This record gives sequence, structure tokens and C-alpha cells, in this order.
Amino acid sequence: MAYNLVIVGYGGMGSYHGKLLQEVPNINVHGTFDISEERRTASVSDGYKAYESLSAVLADAAVDFVLVATPNDVHKEIAISALNAKKHVICEKPVTICSDDLIEIMETAKCNDRAFIVHQNRRWDEDFLTMKKVYDEKMIGDVFHIESRVQGANGIPGDWRHLKANGGGMLLDWGVHLLDQLLFMVDSKIASVYANLSYILGDEVDDGFQALITFESGITSLIEVGTTNFIQLPRWYTKGTNGTAVIEDWNLNGKIVTQNLEENVEAPKPIKAGQGLTKTMAPPSEKAVSISVLPQIEKTMQSFYENVVAVVDGKAEPIVKNEEVLRVLQLIETIFESAERNEVIKDFDRVRKYSTIYNR
Ligand code: NAD
Repeated sequence: MAYNLVIVGYGGMGSYHGKLLQEVPNINVHGTFDISEERRTASVSDGYKAYESLSAVLADAAVDFVLVATPNDVHKEIAISALNAKKHVICEKPVTICSDDLIEIMETAKCNDRAFIVHQNRRWDEDFLTMKKVYDEKMIGDVFHIESRVQGANGIPGDWRHLKANGGGMLLDWGVHLLDQLLFMVDSKIASVYANLSYILGDEVDDGFQALITFESGITSLIEVGTTNFIQLPRWYTKGTNGTAVIEDWNLNGKIVTQNLEENVEAPKPIKAGQGLTKTMAPPSEKAVSISVLPQIEKTMQSFYENVVAVVDGKAEPIVKNEEVLRVLQLIETIFESAERNEVIKDFDRVRKYSTIYNR
């Protein structure tokens, strides 16, 4: 069955969805709605009908889906009105600014028997899937430390992303992606969280952060977002019991270096380092390690939109589960709290509020 979808919020991401949806067979972009007249005109130039109000979208029986791509603070009210009007909803990340709002949306979706699915699209990023394969297939042994970071030098973009009231700041903007990836990869409860936020640019919202997340399995992770980095560190740096994997960038430059356990390896020779001598930090002998390329990833998951259609058709479970989105949002709240109190927060998963609401 083909579904009609209206994009609400036809800005940068709304128009990007419009382009993506041209390739999706079972979803037809039926129109758009934006509060800005300029963006409504842009929508018409792009070939889409521009509704004059949200209520006109919701009153249109031909509309099956509403896609919410507005600033973060209005996701909740639009999603709830759309669900109550019996529309399925796809919502941009971060789904809401606080977890109680998400719980309200999940309850509304359940009451109306409609799908509510969050666009956590970076679960499909090639760099993430490559590192997940290294992790899942133990290509560097058992992973015990993961560093995942994105760093730019352009400050916080846009207007609303600078403002607290609109749900601005980098933890909500980029943090939500990196944390979602981490929790999708590591199947363990979180033991502790410690974080600091950066306010270097003088905005009322964070322009970056560092979060140290330790899992009950013993895996440690450092998640970092920066907007004041003129030199970037690698996108991923992961250590395992038998090696290290690095992914430098979104172009998948990187490598895996593993120990040659079976070789009769010479002990490293001391080197002069700075004003001293070291054996500990000397490079391993040539025979001691193997360098290999990053693995190729196979398509193992449905695409985001294939999955959305299959969920509504009753043929699949959502890949992005609302329970998972809720856990990420609660982790974001804990990161804010840790930074504010300058304290390690323990037993996140044991004390956080679990919701018993599931996707339809
Ligand atoms: P944007 O400012 O470019 O676009 C937002 C649009 O929403 C604007 O055109 C604005 O006029 C409109 N708008 C504001 N309030 C509205 C309302 N009440 N009703 C209808 N329209 C309204 O912002 P953006 O960069 O496109 O971000 C939009 C959403 O997409 C945000 O939630 C953001 O976090 C998300 N986003 C996601 C990704 C991703 O990769 N998943 C990337 C970028 C942005």
C-alpha cells in the first residue's frame, strides 16, 4: 500500500526528507506545511502543495503520515496533534527536549493505535556500521574502550540551535546521534556517567561536551562533540584485547592494527623519546603487529523508510524502538545533570524510569 505524507517544517531537513522520499516507493510526499511564508513558497517551487495551517493538514483524510522536521521544542505538540488526528508520525531527532514529553507521545500513539517513529538515521551511517562490525565480530578481540567524536570549527549553526527554549545546543543536536549509536552497539547496562559541557562560544546552550560512559560489562566510552576544533581527532578510536581500530572520517579512512600472537616476537627496543629513554612507548617490532584495512559492511538492515512502511503494514518491528529513544533521552538528561553537579552519576539504568509502553 502507498502512503501519503506531509512534511511539517520545510527547512533544511524537511526539504532533505523531500528529496530522500522521491526514492521511496511506498511513500508519496503529498504536501508540506511551514509557518514561514518563504518556506511555503519554496515548497511550491519544489513541486509540493503547501498547506496553510497544521489543522488543514490534520483535517485532510488523504494524509496518512506527518513528518515533523521543525525546531526541537515544537516536535511534541505537532506529534501529539497528528497522532490524535489518527496520522502516523515520523519525528526528527532529538525527539523531544525532555523524556516525560516522549512518554506522553508514546502513550498518545498507543491510544490512537498509530506508529510513532524517530528518525535516528545515523544508525545507518557507514562509519558506525563499520565500527559495529569490528565490535560484533571481535576483529580486535573483546572491545574494552570506545571513543566516538565529531568535531567542527564552525561554532553552532543556525538561529534556533543557539537558544535553550528551542532545544538548541550540541548535546541535543549531535549528542543524540552519538549516544544512540553507542547504546545500539553496546549491549550492557550503564554503570556510570560523568560529563562536562563546553560554553566557549558564550551561548546560553552548550557548544560541545565530553561524556565518559562506563558500562556494567566493563566497557568504557568517551563521547565528544566539539564546534571549536580547528584540528580534528579521529571519528572513532576503539581498543580491544587484541588490537586497535581507527576510523578517521566519514570517508572511512582508517585501519585496524592487531597483535601477532603466534609470531616469535622480539621485545621492543628502548628508544630515545624527548629527553628520556623508553621501552614502554617504543613502537612494536614489525613482526609484532599486523595492519589491515577496515571491513566492508553488508546491507543487513532495512533502510529507515523501508522499515517505517513495513512497521505500518504490520510486517516488521521498528528498527528505532521508542524504548531505545527514551533511554538515549534519559541519558542526555543524566549528562546534563552530571555536568551541572560535576559528579559521577552511578547506576543509570538501574534507577532510570522505565516505560512499559511499546511501539504498536
Ligand atoms: P531549519 O531551521 O532549517 O528548519 C525548520 C523549519 O521549521 C523552518 O523552515 C521553520 O520555519 C519551520 N517551523 C518552525 N516552527 C514551526 C511550526 N510550529 N510548524 C511548522 N513549521 C515550523 O531546521 P533544520 O536544520 O531543518 O532542523 C529541523 C529538525 O531536523 C530539528 O529537529 C533537527 O534536530 C533535525 N535535524 C535532523 C538531522 C538528521 O540528520 N537527522 C539533520 C539536521 C536536522
